[in-house]
Amino acid sequence: MTVAHKVAEVRAAMRDARRAGGRTGFVPTMGDLHAGHLALIQKAKTECDFVVVSIFVNPTQFGPGDDFERYRRAVDDDLRVCEREGADLVFLPSVEEVYPEGYGVEVHVPPLEETWEGEFRPGHFVGVATVVLKLFNIVGPDVAYFGMKDYQQLVLIRTMVRNLNLPVEIVPVETVREPDGLALSSRNRYLSDEERQQATPISLALRHGKAMVEAGEQDPEPIRQAVHDTMSQVGLKVQYVAVVDPERMEPMEVVGRPVLIAVAALCGTTRLIDNVLIE
Ligand code: AMP
Repeated sequence: MTVAHKVAEVRAAMRDARRAGGRTGFVPTMGDLHAGHLALIQKAKTECDFVVVSIFVNPTQFGPGDDFERYRRAVDDDLRVCEREGADLVFLPSVEEVYPEGYGVEVHVPPLEETWEGEFRPGHFVGVATVVLKLFNIVGPDVAYFGMKDYQQLVLIRTMVRNLNLPVEIVPVETVREPDGLALSSRNRYLSDEERQQATPISLALRHGKAMVEAGEQDPEPIRQAVHDTMSQVGLKVQYVAVVDPERMEPMEVVGRPVLIAVAALCGTTRLIDNVLIE
């Protein structure tokens, strides 16, 4: 496994990989790798001949009150995990390598960058779209893997790829969960024992919403209400419950299939997101 810190090193390694033939796969991450990230790397391994993982805590996708400074950096552990999973190349750039002095270009993906997550995290998706486009241009993979846990991010990236004719295939990967249903996230570390208990109903609420859709409920309002109440009853501060079409994430007036129910809630001071796709 090669560890590259510089763009030029990645380009050279990718030139060699392409010359060797076969499919190149890319898994962008912010590190602090858990089983959710591993699912992405493992899927890439089964579908590609050369797998690149990037580890970069991207400052431009964090807002002023966000956790950029305290976001856990665990590079040694992450590299061990990447090696064990068979990654071929890990890109570990510095902030200056990605955003050199004088950097100013931003990628906007309207209207998605401003709805749901975008409303509660202004500027977040501009940072995400910008860094992902840069990483795609640096790595140049045939295929890139994104978790369905961050569903709006997945839709945003797909939209960017379509709009800008980027020659990369986007592959979604199912959300990996704890046994009680809580979606794995690096931010789960911030939860106290009590908050960890309080977080369990998030996935229960989504399952409840899914059951209502499967029972034939076509009005989004009772579904939103039930999902909202299941979370707020245990003291979670619900930020949104979206009942939307999974292609564009626009509200559904009449619930059909497929439909996505996506939620965000504060558990103490920790912001958690989750969703369920009903096909
Ligand atoms: P992050 O390091 O949080 O930026 O996440 C990197 C990638 O891992 C993104 O595509 C996420 O959607 C994905 N990911 C994070 N948590 C999970 C999870 N629990 N299951 C599946 N994918 C995940």
